[in-house]
Order: sequence, then C-alpha cells, then structure tokens
Amino acid sequence: MTKLLKKCGAGASLIAVIAFGACSDSGETAISDAQENTPDLCFHNGHIYDGEGGYANAGLTVIDGKIAGLEATAGNADCSQYANTAAQIIDLENAYLYPGFVDAHAHLLEIGLREMTLNLEGIASIEAVKEKLAEARDQTPVGETIFGRGWIETHWPEGRFLSKHDLDAVAPDHPVLLQRWGGHAMAANSLALEMAGITKNTPPPFGGDILLSDDGEPSGMLIDNAQGLVDALLPELTDARREAAFIKGAELYATAGWTGIQPMSVKAPDVAMIEALSDAGKLNIRVYNAVDFAGAETLFDGIAVDGPRQNKNGHVTTRTIKLYTDGALGSRGAALLAPYADRSDSDGLMLIEEETIMPILERALRDGIQMATHAIGDRANRKALDWYEEAFRRVPEDERKIAQPRWRIEHAQILSLDDIKRFNELGVIASMQPSHAILDLHFAVDRLGVERLAGGYAWRSLIDDGALIAAGSDAPFNGAGEPRIEFYAAVARKDADGFSAEGWYPDEKVSRIEALTMLTQWPAFAAFEEDRAGAINIGGNADFTIFDKDILAIPEAEILSVTTLLTIVDGKVIYEH
Ligand SMILES: [Zn+2]
Repeated sequence: MTKLLKKCGAGASLIAVIAFGACSDSGETAISDAQENTPDLCFHNGHIYDGEGGYANAGLTVIDGKIAGLEATAGNADCSQYANTAAQIIDLENAYLYPGFVDAHAHLLEIGLREMTLNLEGIASIEAVKEKLAEARDQTPVGETIFGRGWIETHWPEGRFLSKHDLDAVAPDHPVLLQRWGGHAMAANSLALEMAGITKNTPPPFGGDILLSDDGEPSGMLIDNAQGLVDALLPELTDARREAAFIKGAELYATAGWTGIQPMSVKAPDVAMIEALSDAGKLNIRVYNAVDFAGAETLFDGIAVDGPRQNKNGHVTTRTIKLYTDGALGSRGAALLAPYADRSDSDGLMLIEEETIMPILERALRDGIQMATHAIGDRANRKALDWYEEAFRRVPEDERKIAQPRWRIEHAQILSLDDIKRFNELGVIASMQPSHAILDLHFAVDRLGVERLAGGYAWRSLIDDGALIAAGSDAPFNGAGEPRIEFYAAVARKDADGFSAEGWYPDEKVSRIEALTMLTQWPAFAAFEEDRAGAINIGGNADFTIFDKDILAIPEAEILSVTTLLTIVDGKVIYEH
C-alpha cells in the first residue's frame, strides 16, 4: 500500500509520509502571513499536533474552511493582531488540537434511532422502569407505540423479569415494548399483546418462546424469535423519523469529537436525504457513504457516468458499495476455515456466492466504484481477498476508471496468518474497529481457541506488513461511537477495566501515533481525501478535534476520561463543551 503514497523527503515520519500529496511544510507559513486576509478563525495558546508525534505551541488561522496559516515556533504565536477584526479568536487554554477524527465504520441512522428510543440502560429496579415509562407515556400520543431498550433485571431488588402487569399499571392505552439488554428478549404490555394477536394459545415460533404466568396467560415476555410477532407495532421509519435520526446521530457524533463518519449499509433513498440535510446546515459532520447494493442500481449507474456523488457544500460523498460475505462471531455466523471451537458441527455461513459477487466487482472496477465488503471469519476474509484478486486480474488497470481502487474489507476481524500480507500486496484497506477486539475477546477465545486468535484483530501484524487500517467503531451495534474509546482500545488492547487474558495477544496493539493515524489519515486515504483531510497542513480542510488532555502521553487508563472541548468542521465550531 505504501507504494501508492508519495514520500515527503528523507526521514519523514509515518504521518508525514502519508500526509499530503503536495507535501506542504506546515512550518513555512507564519501565522502573520494571513494578515492581508483577515482569517475567519484564529487559534492560539494551545498544543497543535505537528504531524510528527509532537506539538507546536502554535497559532493557527483558517480562511474559507481551509487552514491558512500555522506558526509552529514555540511561544510567539498569538491572535491579538486580529482583536479588532471579524476573526473569531479561540484561546485553546493549553488544550490539544488534532486533525479531525473520522469514524471509518458506523451506522448513522441507527445511532440516531438509538437516541430517540426510551433508554433503560442502568435502570435499577422495576419501580424505576415504571417512572421512566410514565415520562414517555406523557410525551407520546395515545395509541402510538412506546419502544424502549436496555433494561436488565440481574441486579434488581425485585429479582424478576418485567411483566405485562408492570407496564399496564403505567401505560394501558399505548402499546409498550421494552427490549431487554442484548436484544434477545422483550417485555410487552397487554395492549401490545392484544394488537399482535398473542394469546395463551399462540404457538411460539421456531427459535422463540412466549413466557406464561402461573395463571397460564402470556406474562408479556417474548424470547428471541417470538419478538418478531410484534414487529408490526414498532415505530414506522417515516421520512420525518429518519431525518430526525440522521440529525440526532450527527449531533451526537460532533459531541463525541468526530468531524466525519463513514456510514455503512446506507439505504439508497437515504443518500439524497443526507445530502439535503447537510446542505440545509442540519447535519454538520462530514459523511462518506457506503451504500447497500440491494436497491441501489440506479444510484451506481449515476456514479458510473458522473463520478462520485457530492452534495452542494461538498460534505457528503458517495462512491462505495457495501456487501456482506458472512455474519458475526458472537452468534457463530462468521465463516471460518475450521469449525468453531465451541461447536464442532459448525463453521459459520457465507452469505454471498462467487457468481453473485464477481459481476459486481468487475463492474465496480470499470465504473470507478469503491467496494466495502464485510468479512469477519477467516474463511470470509480469504474469500473476499480471493474475489478482489480475481476481479483485479480480470479487469486490468487500463480498463479501470480508477487504477488503484482502494477497496476495503470491513472488520477483517479473524485472519489466517497467510492472508495478512495480502492486504498490502493487493492494496486492500483493512477497515477495523478497535473496540470490537476489547468487547469480543471476552468470548472469542471460546469460539476460536487461543491459537486461531493469532490472526484476530491483528492490527500490529497488518501494519507491519504494510497495510493501512481505517479505524472505526461500528456504533451503535458494538462500540459506543467515541474516538477516545477506539483510541484507547487500539493502544491498550485491554477492556475498559484494564482486563486482558490469554488469547488477547497484547503484542497486536499499536503505538499512540499509529492509533491517531488509524483514526485520521487512514480514514482520509480510505475515502480518497488524503490531499485535503486527515492532517494539519496549509490548504487542508479545517477539521479539528480538540481534547483537554494529551492523548499521546497521558497514562493509558486516563484516555477514557479525555473530554472533547471543541469539534470543528470546515472552520466552523460544530460542538463546544
Ligand atoms: Zn457495521
């Protein structure tokens, strides 16, 4: 992969090597150069990341959303010369300014929807659930479904599941569905059961159960697939609801410190919605969409003719097809080369076949379309690499619209050791989620055994073999969607409590600089934006993430308590602590 990248002179650090095609030198242009042109923004009195592992005690100016001036000489940069101008002056008060963090794999709609749902996480008793439900009842028109999620009874004083009677006591006139933490069970009230036609005589569906009380009537608890019986009662995904979710998700992301997101599995009709919301100033982070191929033929026909889609303000780009090759490790859906260690009759499931994927890949190469293919298990990853390689062979560079197509594998979670070097050889980007490792490793040893995990979440090995890793969170399905958590997971490779165990392969962790690169420059490269994003250089996008602490130096455990002070996109403050 590094062969694609221009060197910026001998001795260039990892960051500088892959920074900017133009190799502009951030130290050359003094802050005073911006004097003739009053800047829109001027930062001073902070630590500005210098792209080489340190900081400049620096001033930085922004004009028209681009970095205009950077004074890297310690102690002699300040913005006082602009005191009587229209410039917005930001005193960083010793805070730390980094290139904008970008989440290279997340689900924006679902992040927003999660926020719009009654959140019962951490609730301490059935009585407390009732109080929360009463609040939701008062805000919800009668007859409309109240949907909540996240409760768990294990520490409740009542020591039991919710029942329909608990919910009826508070909200008898709304259908109520409260999903248990983990998503494998749900409590419904009497109205919801009635509307779904669930009685004591309803046979539970395959893979599900309808719990009964002592009186032989449904208790209200629906287990696993029985939750499907109430699907029709879930709030409808209207345009208004989807718009609200995208706005909410983007707000939340700005608050966390992300300046950009690369949403996965976007539905084709939502692309225009995201573009319009961004142009209307309602969605302020940058968006680089990977679109579900099903139903997106027309969209990609357009991209084949006109090139990547962009909205008017240039913040939303669409050029990528998202496909799935297998499922997830937790549910044993990931496709493995050998059977699961804890289920010898299963090696997972491939979700797509060669006959289906090859025509899509060949066409994508001819049309200049990027691929982002989900692969978790070692068999799925090998297949994805084989198929990419075969497509590259069938469509040589001179027949491609874009010679180096920067195709991605999403997750690249469990790799056969033989396949690790193929990412660099084929120029395939590994799009990985550090937080997956620290969540999954608690059960991955059971699924795979210690030996097979040598190629699990193998960040260090991939980077050492020359691959680029675009890091993300997979929020809201696994990660919470916070840069500090992904950064911590990548450098610590321990869970949030500092736990690690046999099979966690601590040597696969990365350095602080590499983690920063995985969350800034490599996502930019994975989006063909490295000439203007992912680093702090003159002429580049003025997208910054500003933390209160030095994430490159503070003790590991402290990284999780870093506060995002400011998030800036295109020279505009989109979040202020
Ligand atoms: Zn995902």
